[in-house]
This record gives sequence, structure tokens and C-alpha cells, in this order.
Amino acid sequence: MSETEQNTRHAARMARKKALVDAAIAAATDARGLLVVVTGNGKGKSTSAFGMVARALGHGMKVGVVQFIKSRTDTGEEAFLGRHAEWHVTGDGFTWDTQDRARDIATAQRGWAIAARMLADPSYQLVVLDELTYLLSYGYLDADAVLDALAHRPPMQHVVVTGRGASAALVELADTVSVIADEKHAFRAGVKAQPGIDF
Ligand code: ATP
Ligand code: MG
Repeated sequence: MSETEQNTRHAARMARKKALVDAAIAAATDARGLLVVVTGNGKGKSTSAFGMVARALGHGMKVGVVQFIKSRTDTGEEAFLGRHAEWHVTGDGFTWDTQDRARDIATAQRGWAIAARMLADPSYQLVVLDELTYLLSYGYLDADAVLDALAHRPPMQHVVVTGRGASAALVELADTVSVIADEKHAFRAGVKAQPGIDF
């Protein structure tokens, strides 16, 4: 096939594709608060949520972030985005660090109280519940109460939930679900957590 023929075919294929994409965009007319779940074993769940925080802040939206589990308060995201968003770090660390189930449950419930307040307040336009899934899989929070609060939040409020092992019920309730696969991670090659990339 000559170069000219190839170019002609390419243009025709792209025109067909553009018509399909334009039709799909034209058909998507709803605007409402979305529940986004970012789960899976690969790296990029929390940072995806923080990307949406940056986007929302750029639009002048009011943003609330609750970080469950995490105990470190030296993260770049909190230092930078925390200047513009309401930011709560409520974790004491992972269960294998704390080794104290009763304290973990109390901490989880303290964090959830903050989250529940945000989910009942329409002035928050984006709420990030970072690592919430673990509190549900460990049974530290009443899953039905959490799902109920998510389902009955203000209609225009967006929520991003991150963490491995999102439950079927959470996935069912969500509008957008991304499962990040763990293809490779530098940690397994002996690289310690790097500022700017890992925290
Ligand atoms: P990030 O905050 O980088 O987006 P994440 O939210 O997807 O990561 P978490 O399970 O919350 O993943 O873990 C946070 C920390 O653990 C980060 O330092 C991240 O690089 C690291 N991490 C994430 N996934 C893996 C993995 N599969 N193997 C090893 N370390 C990981
Ligand atoms: Mg995370």
C-alpha cells in the first residue's frame, strides 16, 4: 500500500472513531456526585485520590480528606495539599505495627466520625476516604453503616475511597472502580520508600 493510501485509510478510520467518541460524549449528560473506588494491590491508589484532590482544589472546590490507618504525618501530600484541604490523619499505623486491636477499633471509629460528618455536609464537594477498605475488611467499622452513609450523602458530593480488597458491596455502590495491578514494585528490589514517589 502506498503512503497516500495508508494516509487516506487512516483518515477514514479516525473519522469513524471520532463519530463514535463524539456520540458517546453527547450521550453522557448527567452531572452528579460520584463514588470512585481505587483498589487492587498495585501502587497508585492514594496518589490517584490526591490527583483528584488537586483537580478539585484547582476548581476552587471544598475538599475533605480522612486518612485512615496511616500514622506518618510527614507525607508530601499532606504538607502540600493540606494547606488547601481539610486534612485528617487518624491512623496509628498498620495492624501489624500497632498489634492492639482495641486501640485500632477506637482509632477507626474516631476517623469514621470525622468522615461521617463530612458525608452529611453538602459544603464538602469532594471527600477522600484514604485506606477506608481495611477498616471494613477487618470489621473495625459497621460495613452497613458505612455503605448507608455513602449512599445517602449529598447528591452532588464526590467521594473517593482507596485501599486494597474493596468489598463487592462497595464496588456495587460505586460509579467508577479502578483496580490497580501490582506488576512490579521497587520495594521488592530492595528500594526503600522514596519521598516524592512513595510518601
Ligand atoms: P500510593 O500512596 O503510592 O498511591 P497506594 O495507595 O496504592 O500507594 P498503599 O497500599 O496505600 O498503596 O501503600 C502505600 C505505600 O506502600 C507507598 O509507599 C507505596 O509505594 C507502597 N506500595 C504500594 N503498593 C505496593 C506494593 N504492591 N508493594 C510494595 N509497596 C507498595
Ligand atoms: Mg494508599
